[in-house]
Amino acid sequence: MPEVFNWQLGRKMDYPYAERHPRSQFAFVFNINRCIACQTCTMACKSTWTFSKGQEYMWWNNVETKPYGGYPQSWDVRLLGMLDETHRKTGRNAQWETGQRGAADRPYGVYEGMTIFEAARNSERRDQVAIGYEPTEQEWRSPNFYEDTATGSENVPEKLSMKPASLPAHATWFFYLQRLCNHCTYPACLSACPRGAIYKRPEDGIVLIDQSRCRGYRKCVGQCPYKKPMFRATTRVSEKCIACYPRIEGKDPLTEGEPMETRCMAACVGKIRLQGLVQIGEDGKWKEDRYNPLYYLIKVEKVALPLYPQFGTEPNGYYIPPRWVPRQYLHQMFGPGVDEAIEKYTYPSRELMAVLALFRASQKIVFRYEIIEGPKIFERTVNGKPWSIYNDTVVGYSKNGKEITRISVEEPKYVRPDKHYNSI
Ligand code: SF4
Ligand code: SF4
Repeated sequence: MPEVFNWQLGRKMDYPYAERHPRSQFAFVFNINRCIACQTCTMACKSTWTFSKGQEYMWWNNVETKPYGGYPQSWDVRLLGMLDETHRKTGRNAQWETGQRGAADRPYGVYEGMTIFEAARNSERRDQVAIGYEPTEQEWRSPNFYEDTATGSENVPEKLSMKPASLPAHATWFFYLQRLCNHCTYPACLSACPRGAIYKRPEDGIVLIDQSRCRGYRKCVGQCPYKKPMFRATTRVSEKCIACYPRIEGKDPLTEGEPMETRCMAACVGKIRLQGLVQIGEDGKWKEDRYNPLYYLIKVEKVALPLYPQFGTEPNGYYIPPRWVPRQYLHQMFGPGVDEAIEKYTYPSRELMAVLALFRASQKIVFRYEIIEGPKIFERTVNGKPWSIYNDTVVGYSKNGKEITRISVEEPKYVRPDKHYNSI
C-alpha cells in the first residue's frame, strides 16, 4: 500500500492511493465555545439540498450534544471502540509522542497508534480499506438524540453537580459539536468506493460523489469515520455534502462573482463559523499565507484543531475546543494540541481577538485580513501577567482583493429611541 504524509499525525501513513493534492483546499474553523445549538445551520443545509423524497433522514450538517449525542447514534464511540480493539489485539499503543511537537510538519507531535487504514490491515475484515461499519436504520433515527443532556465528570449520574461551575473543567458538562463532511485530504469514502465514483476536485479539494457512477454499494457509508455519506433509498445511490460548490465557485447570484461561504456557515447565528480556502503546494503542504484567517488560526496560533486526527483522513474541519470540558475527553477528540489551544483562547493575543471578529462578518470568503491598531480599552492581570484588550479594526479582503468587511473588536452600541419603547 502506498504511503502518504499526514501532517496532523506528524508521520507517513498507509493509504490506498499515492499522494496527489489539490491547488487549494476547502477548510473551516468552528468555535465550539460560542455555539448555542439553534440548528439554523442544520436547517439552512436541509432546506437547500436535502428536502426531497428519500432524503428525509439526511442531515449533511448536524449539531449534536456531546458526550451522549451523535448522528448516527454513537458514531464516534463505536469507531473508537473498533480502533481500541485492534490496538489491543495487536499489542500496540495508541499514544502520541509529543516530545518534539511544534514543527510545521508535526505541530501536535507524532501519533504512534494505528489509523483506520492501518487498523484495517490488522483486522479480520481484510475486504475493507479502513475499519468501519454501516449504521443500522435505528441509529439514523434521531438526529438530535440526547440534546442538552449533561454528564458528570465520572459518568455516574448521581455525581452530577449542582454547584456553581468554575473553570478550567466543570464537574457537570456537555457541549455542542457541529458536524459536516470534512472534505478530507485522504478521504476514506473515496478510497472505499469500488466504482471510483468519489473524487476530490483539484481546484478546491471538495469531495464529491458522481451520482451517475455510484451503484449504491454503501462502502463509503461504512468506511467514512465521520459517517457523512448517506444512502438514498429512492434513487439507490449515496449522497453527501457538496460544500455548496456553486457558492465556492462564485456562481451564486448574490455573490458578484466572488467565492461565497456555504449555506450552513453563512446562516450561523452564534457567529461560530469561519470558512475559507487554503493554498496547497504540490508536496501537500499548506503554502505560507500568513494573513489568511484560516492559516493564522490553524497553523500560526494553533487555536483550532482537527476532529479525531487519529482516524487518519486528515480532516479539513477544525475546532476551537470548549473551555469547560474535562481535558481527557478533549485530548481523545482533538489530540494533544488541546491545552495550548485552550490557553491561547482563554487569554487571546491582540491579533487573535481581532481575527475572531471576522467570524460571520461577511458572506463572502475572506482570503486575507489586515489589522488597523486602535486604543487600549481594557486591562487586567491574569495569572500574574498583564493582559489587555485593544479596540483594533480588522479588514477582510475577497479573492480579488476587494474589501468585503471591516469590523472593530468593540462592537458599536445602538440605543433604541424612546418612541420604540415597548412597541412590540
Ligand atoms: S468526512 Fe467522510 S465523507 Fe467527508 S471526505 Fe472525509 S471520509 Fe469522505
Ligand atoms: S447556526 Fe451556528 S450557533 Fe446555531 S447551531 Fe449552527 S453552528 Fe451552532
